[in-house]
Amino acid sequence: MSATATTTDIFPQGDKGPADYFTGTAWIKILVPKDETGSYSVGNVVFEPKTRNNWHTHPAGQILLITEGKGYYQERGQSARLLSKGDVVVIPSNVEHWHGAAKDSRFVHVVITNLKDGSAATWLEPVTDQDYDALPTR
Ligand code: MN
Repeated sequence: MSATATTTDIFPQGDKGPADYFTGTAWIKILVPKDETGSYSVGNVVFEPKTRNNWHTHPAGQILLITEGKGYYQERGQSARLLSKGDVVVIPSNVEHWHGAAKDSRFVHVVITNLKDGSAATWLEPVTDQDYDALPTR
């Protein structure tokens, strides 16, 4: 258990998320690899404060189950949704969005990602500091 883990963590922290599509420090633990049908995978993602993933889409959607902390989910052209423990987000196929931590809190969610032709996501550009810093904190 690392220095940043807390006693409330449910799943192991996992490996550091790729800098290619995270701004800041994230940790990814695959809980269920692509299943035998090739249709979904399940993982746990920990975002340190201010960390978020790039804008991206999922070819067959994704579900987020928030288990710890405070964070955001935002679809392109929409206001960001502030999230906390117990929130559930259903992300439709091919909708541009990002998710990540609030400025002052870690954020942990389980992701159930539906796959299409083996693909889980298409990664786009980072969320800029300017856009992130302008988000409401409540
Ligand atoms: Mn996503």
